[in-house]
Amino acid sequence: MHMVTIDNFNFKGLRAIVRVDFNVPLDKKTFEVTDDTRIRGALPTINKILNDGGSCILMSHLGRPDGVPQEKYSLKHVIPVLSKHLGREVKFADDCVGESARLLAASLKPGEVLLLENVRFYLEEEGKPKLPEGVSEEEKKAAKEEMKKRQKEFTAKLASLADCYVNDAFGTAHRAHASTTLIAAHFPGKSMFGYLIEAELKAMDKVLHAPDHPFTAIMGGAKVSDKIMVIERMLEKVDNLIIGGGMTYTFIKAQGGKIGKSLCEEDKLDLALQILEKAKAKGVKVYLPVDAVNGDAFDANANTSVSKVNETPDGWMGLDIGPETIALFSEVIKNSKTILWNGPMGVFEFEKFAAGTSAIAKAIAEATAAGAFSLVGGGDSVAAVNKNKLADKISYVSTGGGAMLEYIEGKELPGIKAIRG
Ligand code: AMP
Repeated sequence: MHMVTIDNFNFKGLRAIVRVDFNVPLDKKTFEVTDDTRIRGALPTINKILNDGGSCILMSHLGRPDGVPQEKYSLKHVIPVLSKHLGREVKFADDCVGESARLLAASLKPGEVLLLENVRFYLEEEGKPKLPEGVSEEEKKAAKEEMKKRQKEFTAKLASLADCYVNDAFGTAHRAHASTTLIAAHFPGKSMFGYLIEAELKAMDKVLHAPDHPFTAIMGGAKVSDKIMVIERMLEKVDNLIIGGGMTYTFIKAQGGKIGKSLCEEDKLDLALQILEKAKAKGVKVYLPVDAVNGDAFDANANTSVSKVNETPDGWMGLDIGPETIALFSEVIKNSKTILWNGPMGVFEFEKFAAGTSAIAKAIAEATAAGAFSLVGGGDSVAAVNKNKLADKISYVSTGGGAMLEYIEGKELPGIKAIRG
């Protein structure tokens, strides 16, 4: 069957249940939304439905309430911002599958918006039972079975509120939850992606399947083990692989360098060498840092010094890439036509070790201005882009960290499969 797309679907007179990602940061005291990026991201989809003459039932998770309703995780806190952006009233059901949701959904008129309370106030959303310590394997199995049944009922209740389903929450597309995946089966021929997920898929597919060359992947962050799958997949695609961040030191130590107290995964040294060999065999150029900004402690106020990356003084640890590395990496980036970036170059949360990550963000923005296609994903890299006010200078800033990595690794995301088939 041909997949339905939001653009060729007419919502006139229909109630659409839309999975959005309103997992936004809230002020700890006032519960005001402190960053509304994700809310703004959902607006094109919501507006298309409303402009067609349909109505919207919005559902999302917020935080990790683990099945326990709590004020600090209530989605009602997003209403003022959402209402302002939409220029209309937003109704609220304080229980996503209860009587209030049923009545409010049933009375929803074209052009109206109903927001449901946090779907994760029910364990059924994720479908994982909470088990006390020390239960037997048999009891565990029974609890899982029971939860599966309840999850089915929960999904059916959500589905019963609407006539069609739109998934626009990319950040949770790698989770097989009720609202992200299971619900799609209730709307055959009437399940589709929203504009945000469409854009995410388009950006990732461009990088994976139709990159212009030279193609450079920049991988940073703490651990090799988290990124190994992506790195291996990237070796099939890229011309250049830039490695930075904490994972640098596993590679440096594997090559016989001195790394002081730097982060290192001792059990991944062989793996690091294998990656380098594989890259060589495939003709991929690997760029590791040549110098580093070291700290004498893992602390925002640590003393700093610069050394060659493989000559970290005893008692010190490498916490950012150094000036020569910034120049080297920037040059490679600026000569690229496709750029994929995930993971910071250093402990960018500490101002003293943030320069490397910021410099990379700037180099990517410059390359983009010169015609490259750039895709940046992962909470930390995105934060660095935003901090440097460069979001509109990157071709695509992904809203999903884990989901993006899994898609690029080649895994099938349940939320995508549920709609694409
Ligand atoms: P990840 O979640 O794997 O992308 O890792 C992100 C984290 O890696 C950030 O919190 C950074 O502070 C941390 N990080 C980056 N570079 C280093 C480094 N050289 N040493 C220790 N941690 C680092």
